[in-house]
Amino acid sequence: MQKEIMAGLYHSTNLADKDEQHQYCVGTQWCKYHNDRETYKEDARLPSSFLPYMKRVYERLSDIKLLQRCLPGLTQNQNESFNSLIWARCPKERSFGPKFVNRAVYSAILHWNIGATSRERVMERMALSVGQHTQTINDKKDTDRINQSVRRANDDQKQKRKQKKDDKIRSEEQQLEIEGPTYGSGLFGDISD
Ligand SMILES: [Zn+2]
Repeated sequence: MQKEIMAGLYHSTNLADKDEQHQYCVGTQWCKYHNDRETYKEDARLPSSFLPYMKRVYERLSDIKLLQRCLPGLTQNQNESFNSLIWARCPKERSFGPKFVNRAVYSAILHWNIGATSRERVMERMALSVGQHTQTINDKKDTDRINQSVRRANDDQKQKRKQKKDDKIRSEEQQLEIEGPTYGSGLFGDISD
């Protein structure tokens, strides 16, 4: 997975040394440089000057510890959930300038890490007074979010238990098909016979 993440970056960057550019795509089916050199064509690629900067981000993204956390399959939902906080602040359907998007991301990070009450701290730092109404709304938002996440975790657990039970039944049925009945009341006669 680590190699494939790097392949995404290098393959899409325009490097003078093509073997270096496609070093991580060796063995993949999608890279035409390795699989179909005849039709391979260099369309729009990222200028190589970006590579050192992007590489740092990609190295962080492909860090073993981070990838291990993705293995249980929980991270995708979390990422989607974080993205939705950004989209709520600057909807995809409209176009915003970099300043606005920056602020939306900062605000989403604060909300994600600390909760809605983080806004109060920002206001305090800006010497703005936080009204009772704002506090009540923020507290409610945080409580709702915690309750929702507990509910989701419970639903997930329920789904996993059901899946485990279904798997067990399926495996028992398959076993029965292969071996035929191996146990049953009166099936094999009385052992004292
Ligand atoms: Zn490639």
